[in-house]
Amino acid sequence: MAFDFQRHTGEFEAREAANAASAGEPVAQAPVGERLQQALIRIQPIVGERHIVTDAGGVEERGRVLIPAAGRAVAYVYPGSAEEVQQLVRVADELAIPLWPASKGRNWGYGAASPVRDGAIVLVLERLNRIIEVHEELAYAVIEPGVTYRQFNAYLKQHHPDLWCDTTDGTPEGSVIGNALEKGIGETPYGDHFGNLCGMEVVLPTGELVRTGGGPANLATRHTYKWGTGPFLDGMFAQSNLGIVTRAGIWLMPRPEAFCSFTFALEREADFPVIIDRLRDLALKDIIQTKVHLINDFAFLSLVSQYPFELRNGATRLSRDTIRRLAAGFGVTSWSFITGLYGTREEVRLKQAAIRRAFAPYGKLTFITDDSLRRLQGLSATLERMRQRPRLRAISEFVTRRVLRTSPEILAVAPHSHALLQGIPSDFFVGHAYFKAPSRPATDVHPARDQCGLIWFAPIAPMTGRHVGEVIALCEPLFERRGFEIYVALMMINPRSMVVLMGIFYRKDDPDETARATALYGELSDATLVAGYQQYRATVGLMPQILDTAPEFKAAAGRIKSALDPNNILAPGRYGL
Ligand code: ADP
Repeated sequence: MAFDFQRHTGEFEAREAANAASAGEPVAQAPVGERLQQALIRIQPIVGERHIVTDAGGVEERGRVLIPAAGRAVAYVYPGSAEEVQQLVRVADELAIPLWPASKGRNWGYGAASPVRDGAIVLVLERLNRIIEVHEELAYAVIEPGVTYRQFNAYLKQHHPDLWCDTTDGTPEGSVIGNALEKGIGETPYGDHFGNLCGMEVVLPTGELVRTGGGPANLATRHTYKWGTGPFLDGMFAQSNLGIVTRAGIWLMPRPEAFCSFTFALEREADFPVIIDRLRDLALKDIIQTKVHLINDFAFLSLVSQYPFELRNGATRLSRDTIRRLAAGFGVTSWSFITGLYGTREEVRLKQAAIRRAFAPYGKLTFITDDSLRRLQGLSATLERMRQRPRLRAISEFVTRRVLRTSPEILAVAPHSHALLQGIPSDFFVGHAYFKAPSRPATDVHPARDQCGLIWFAPIAPMTGRHVGEVIALCEPLFERRGFEIYVALMMINPRSMVVLMGIFYRKDDPDETARATALYGELSDATLVAGYQQYRATVGLMPQILDTAPEFKAAAGRIKSALDPNNILAPGRYGL
């Protein structure tokens, strides 16, 4: 069935209103008219006029998304403290106005700072940006939701250089807590972001503030012992609409004695399943401790080049041959990955040997240390200067391609991936959202503002060559039928599961491409769910129906929702609740 982001939102609202009416429950109506006016009047003295955006232009700009459509907010409000959040929630609860919380709203490709349904007031928590505590000995920090990867990293580098925080390959301006609450994945051994949160402060939909973990107010283990006393409530606040997290503890990684990153380029595509099985084996043995980015050739093209519309030859997508030829020009094979090794010097040396044994028979392996990266950067700068001089260009090309067996484009990626694997964020990778734009900015990267089109589809599979291969085989014909090239980035979320991330890159100013992208997203979701694969994360367009295949689970979660949020004011529709 073709999927329609806008129509879908409407259907959901109608169904929910009917359900609520039959159950005799109050429903938060779209806050047009009187109740909304009243709410905004009461919100003003709480946060101050300059922290409320209601003008159409401002709301439109903040509501921009990379997906084809999302719900429209009526206002963006920027509280400055947890107490202000509590007061806002109480006003919304009293007047039955829906509130949609966002920390920074930079989850580009899933929904940014836009709600599932029209008519919500979006609470952006970016002014709550304090790093409250860093505990050196116990390697944790307590932070607020407005803290970004860039800010957190810079702070640790300056004040606690022996502690690393994790990051994503998304924007450095993303929220550390926002990403964790969406179960986002990072780059270092601490890349399970939700798994590394410990002890939260949460404002409930009725305005009370709770601290998770049980125990007394001065609980000594709040940020060191996750399970606390009694039921583990923390899980209720991830991918849900049961509370607004205003503070959380986050575990930090002690800087290892030694680190190196490494890249691998698969020689024969037929060996792909073997690579998945070898990665799992090494991860289960704790030799690889972090996410592996295993990407296909088309994904690599999106990183290092602009989409070559002129090579489509009248079709709506590039042929496999064209993709292969372009990728080969960059020295890229069908599949390649990057990851890191961590430990003592001795451990890293032994791990390198294990990696060589596992992967060298299947392709090209390159280990990169801080020292070799510096040499590589010096060399690539020299080669670049030679390339600019007509008489030396041929020598530069020969050394790059034949001696180093690489390309300037691959050399340009290395410093960014090497840094990312140490938790240092970079604008480089998120630039791929501009793949179908005329060019990509080097700084101030903001694909939502710049109207780029990208939908992330993120099914997750058990980590075997057979399962991962099955998901790709299921989805590839759907991409082809809708006239898109398949983009795949495989991410090992733990040693037993792999996210098979697929990107649908489309032009927002092209109605036909937008319609095909929308339809494809729905088809991918249907096909994978039928085959038994869930999504690790969904766009706001798909959220209302994401739990429909698990009716008992949805009903149980719904009962918790009704108990905690009797007026259904907090992010209605988020993840099907
Ligand atoms: P990022 O800026 O890191 O991409 P977002 O702020 O967009 O993260 O958060 C992703 C989603 O998670 C939001 O749309 C929101 O629904 C939810 N969320 C974010 N922060 C909070 C929070 N502090 N409390 C509850 N839910 C949150």
